[in-house]
Amino acid sequence: MKSSVLNGRPTFCFIDLEALRWNFQQVRARVGRGVKILSMVKADAYGHGARAVAAALAAEGSDAFGVATVEEGIDLRQAGIRQSIVVLAGLYLEQLDLLLQHELIPVLHELETLKALEKAVGARGMTWPIHLEIDTGMARLGFRDAQIDDWLPELSQLKALKLEGVFSHFSDAETANENYTEKQLKSFRVVIGHLRRATFAPSLIHMAKSGAIINVPESHLEMVRPGLILYGIYPSPELTKAIRLKPVLSWKTRILQLQRLPRGSAIGYGRTFTTKKTSLIATLPVGYADGYKRLFSNRAAVLVRSERAPVVGRVSMDLTTVDVTDIGKVQLGDEVVLLGRQGDAEISADEMAAWANTISYEILTSIGARVPRIHHHF
Ligand SMILES: *Cc1c(COP(=O)(O)O)cnc(C)c1O
Repeated sequence: MKSSVLNGRPTFCFIDLEALRWNFQQVRARVGRGVKILSMVKADAYGHGARAVAAALAAEGSDAFGVATVEEGIDLRQAGIRQSIVVLAGLYLEQLDLLLQHELIPVLHELETLKALEKAVGARGMTWPIHLEIDTGMARLGFRDAQIDDWLPELSQLKALKLEGVFSHFSDAETANENYTEKQLKSFRVVIGHLRRATFAPSLIHMAKSGAIINVPESHLEMVRPGLILYGIYPSPELTKAIRLKPVLSWKTRILQLQRLPRGSAIGYGRTFTTKKTSLIATLPVGYADGYKRLFSNRAAVLVRSERAPVVGRVSMDLTTVDVTDIGKVQLGDEVVLLGRQGDAEISADEMAAWANTISYEILTSIGARVPRIHHHF
């Protein structure tokens, strides 16, 4: 990271921690004081730099953090995060000692691993908190709600493992009045009822991700798991009126070369763009190896002097060409905004996502490790 800062390449992501804190407080206001917040900081906090993001959110009152892997959890511990850290996307018993050493909470989602973990933790003479994932209709991870009679009796055998949390995940919840969302929430409540009757008393029942935090207040339960909204992005355009968010990340670079080309000049690999008139073409030090997607070729735009300049020709691994012919007074070294605001102009993660037939989540998490994240407003 440091070396990239020192090498002089002016392609950076700027992370506004003030905006992050604002978004966190919008979530806090939405769910109220009584509901805990587990901030999702998996995938390097959606590309925003997990260490700085988690530190800022911890100071703001985040009760817990969610990561995908044990490695991500360890990274947070090494950054000094003391809150609960839940590992959501798979536990591998080879990592058990690391998990215990760094006080990470595993998610259990099927019986074989649950039994093996019970044995391994018991053999160490320890007890350990776990969260149980219930599959209420996403069919990805979790104990299937309909098969509760198969797995519930097994839970009674647990001695070393303590059921601290139980959760489920919505397959949608972004769309208003979704029947499926209601069905999932109802199934989850039924499962919780069965668990309570079997005398389990998990203290953390949770289900809501960003969309449900805004859209399905009855799903807030004891804890919520916001991801995307913390980073200032709406899970769906329908929800922009319900909550006011501020984008946290902007992605910028500077013009590396400027050239005036005659009409009929072919640009880039495969000559997919040919100038239709005398054109001023700017080359930018960013490419698909930085996460500036090749699908942006001849589709995306960037901001130069608060105006839009179209990407022309193919995005290559390290470089991208844009047409700045119609923008006045462009100079070598001018700031270029790839994502974010410049003057009154803005390029959003959603707009970028549309250029690459994907979602904002993928745009953010694709920004490469080669792009330094610079955090502001600690
Ligand atoms: C990523 C994730 C979230 C957060 O989702 P957002 O839509 O970003 O709020 C919540 N829960 C689980 C299990 C996740 O994997």
